[in-house]
Amino acid sequence: MSDDGPKNPLEELQKQFQDVIGKAKVQFPNMKMDGFPFPEDGDAQGSGGSGGSDSTTGEADEKSGLDLIHEFDFKPREVKDHLDRFVIKQDEAKKVLSVAVCDHYNHVRRCLENPEEEDANYKKQNVILLGPTGVGKTYLMQNVAKLIGVPYVKADATKFSETGYVGYDVEDIVRDLVKVADGDTELAQYGIVYIDEIDKIASSGNGGGTKDVSGRGVQINLLKLMEETEVNLVSQTDMMGQMQAMMMMGRGKKQASEISTKHMLFIVSGAFMDMTEQIEKRLAKNAIGFGQVEKTEEDERANLLQKAETRDFVSYGFEPEFIGRLPVRVACENLIAEDLEMILQNAEGNILQQYIGDFEGYGIKASFDDASLGEIAKQAAEEKTGARGLMTVLERVLRQFKFELPSTTVKRLKISDKTITDPDSELAQLLEGQEDDQRAMFVQEVDDFAKRFKGEHGLELRFNTKAVDAVIEASQCQRKTVRVLCEQKFKDFQYGLKLVAKNTGESSFEITPEVVADPDGQLSGWVLKSYDK
Ligand code: ADP
Repeated sequence: MSDDGPKNPLEELQKQFQDVIGKAKVQFPNMKMDGFPFPEDGDAQGSGGSGGSDSTTGEADEKSGLDLIHEFDFKPREVKDHLDRFVIKQDEAKKVLSVAVCDHYNHVRRCLENPEEEDANYKKQNVILLGPTGVGKTYLMQNVAKLIGVPYVKADATKFSETGYVGYDVEDIVRDLVKVADGDTELAQYGIVYIDEIDKIASSGNGGGTKDVSGRGVQINLLKLMEETEVNLVSQTDMMGQMQAMMMMGRGKKQASEISTKHMLFIVSGAFMDMTEQIEKRLAKNAIGFGQVEKTEEDERANLLQKAETRDFVSYGFEPEFIGRLPVRVACENLIAEDLEMILQNAEGNILQQYIGDFEGYGIKASFDDASLGEIAKQAAEEKTGARGLMTVLERVLRQFKFELPSTTVKRLKISDKTITDPDSELAQLLEGQEDDQRAMFVQEVDDFAKRFKGEHGLELRFNTKAVDAVIEASQCQRKTVRVLCEQKFKDFQYGLKLVAKNTGESSFEITPEVVADPDGQLSGWVLKSYDK
């Protein structure tokens, strides 16, 4: 054994650590090493997910998440009532989720009160939510997690890779939950994990999805998480995390290195639209002898998912064990125009509030009449993206209003169905009616510029009426605000005019349309002339 090497395991570890730090410094020269980027007490950092997931901690109240779990006493009806405030329709999904969540957290509470419950033969009620895009699957889960006050993370199954060496490892989502819980592993083990686009990891069969071979591997990895497994808090591919762990060990500090998924609630969801055909065929086959089955209307297709059975998932490309671990199955309904209108009318915190708030930010009071809501909903339904279509329509219709109105004197925007069907001419009309006010506002802006100039440089710029007109016209032609235009046109005036003032004693200058048209040329002329005096 060579005698220049470390003599004991701790020294060995510290040497390895120094080597890694050295290599990391070469590889990542900008990496922050001072004081090391980890807290002294060894807690994990807790500021959201690692980029692969959306996340939230609950906002139930001031109490800590663990207290809330200890005191969990929601009834399914209370959870549903809460969801009714935000989510329109989806009654069955709300009921099923409310029951699953209440059962889960009642069980967790009982386990905390009495550890013997841990051993009872309890089967977790992981949930699979089916339904087209934009019908509220994610929104339901976000609202449930907020109500209960537990850490919550969302990720798309398409990001997962089988090995984790390329892309996002399924276990990363559990580590994200720990981050969302501010490093509190005890709390994180009772969190909710929501995985969307699960239909994309189907591995074979007749349905849609990417259908690549790794889908099966990802399913198997997810299955382990959903059942019960210990997840290492530091990913094998996370070099910084590995270093931190080594450093903690080197300092003789103990910290949890694993987290159990036993009490985590897993919710998976997917559109599964390719599966509807298969369900339709199965139902038609069953119906032979009971008369002809009508072909399902497009709008109704999503509702066929309510009839999905285990065999449909298996022939779609899911492992029977995987589907078996998702005993609670519920399909969200498609949202038609009337539902979308109801969202705008009744759902708390819906997208309209955001638009009203955006206009309010510029001191503009926007309001929507009932007919406008009907028209927005109608156009949104044509997008076939569920409630997401509402945003698409509002964005398309109000984009120009949001751009133009903040620079006008308009303080009130009444949105009618005509605004939605023909936004351009409604905007033009609104702006026309404002012409006088508009001019007054531009004149004021020129005046403000002259005042600022005097305040900053002690020199007076007297814009005559024609010069003001010239400034306004140039600002409109060049699509610049009056303020920006003046600042650009007269950017060197303080230097030239100070010279003129020095030579002539004048401190007040008349700005004519000629000066506006050729400010630098006119200024040079004034300066030259001033030397003649
Ligand atoms: P997905 O079903 O694809 O998960 P989301 O839940 O992400 O759809 O919906 C997108 C947005 O549309 C939500 O954030 C919410 O604002 C709105 N939304 C969707 N469905 C509903 C609904 N049923 N009631 C009220 N708002 C909804």
